Amino acid sequence: MQFGYKIKIIYLVSSVSIIQLAPAAFAQVHTVKNAKVYRQQFRVDSMQKMIEIKTLVPGVVYDLRYATKNNFTNTRLYKTGNSTFLRLPVALALQRVQIELNQKGFGIKIYDAYRPYAVTKKMWDLIGDERYVANPSKGSGHNRGLAIDLTLINLSNDNELDMGTGFDNFTDTAHHVFRNLPSTVLQNRTLLKETMEKYGFRSFETEWWHYSWPNDRNYEVLDLDFKKLEKYAY
Ligand SMILES: [Zn+2]
Repeated sequence: MQFGYKIKIIYLVSSVSIIQLAPAAFAQVHTVKNAKVYRQQFRVDSMQKMIEIKTLVPGVVYDLRYATKNNFTNTRLYKTGNSTFLRLPVALALQRVQIELNQKGFGIKIYDAYRPYAVTKKMWDLIGDERYVANPSKGSGHNRGLAIDLTLINLSNDNELDMGTGFDNFTDTAHHVFRNLPSTVLQNRTLLKETMEKYGFRSFETEWWHYSWPNDRNYEVLDLDFKKLEKYAY
């Protein structure tokens, strides 16, 4: 999960007053709903392509929670849990993360990556609270194929490392600054954070599992279901 991007507040300074533009002043985000438009975009710029993660990062374990009822909405939001996607440079960076972790005896388990915009809207309809779900008016890193929710596993048995909380735990225990945890938990979180940041990912202060890639190529919000992406993702 991601709470959404922080809205930049624009201050218009005039000689007599300061006018603050609230988030409501921003229009609904533009989304790519048409697979042909998406295909055209990645033909012009191959870095826009959405890659099925296991194509480039074999050996990752999928536990795509939104394909099950085992998530904070208690609702199944994806039709299948067999595939998920990231933009090409993000998947390549994750490949490097995995190589380094594997050398240390650890692997990656993915809870969520690309999330179609329609699913973000559905989450909003179900929960409607910006503390827990991204406000659809902004679109999120997950909607752009730039964000990933993941944890570490032990390569020998695929067991998750202890991170102090589970996925989508909305208490302050899940925050990076929360230090009142056993040293092994802190070490596990640090290993994930340092490895992800080494290869260009950014952490998110309130969710130890959420990492994102900078939106440095005007990646748009996609509203294409997994089936449409699968056609071109391998
Ligand atoms: Zn997330």
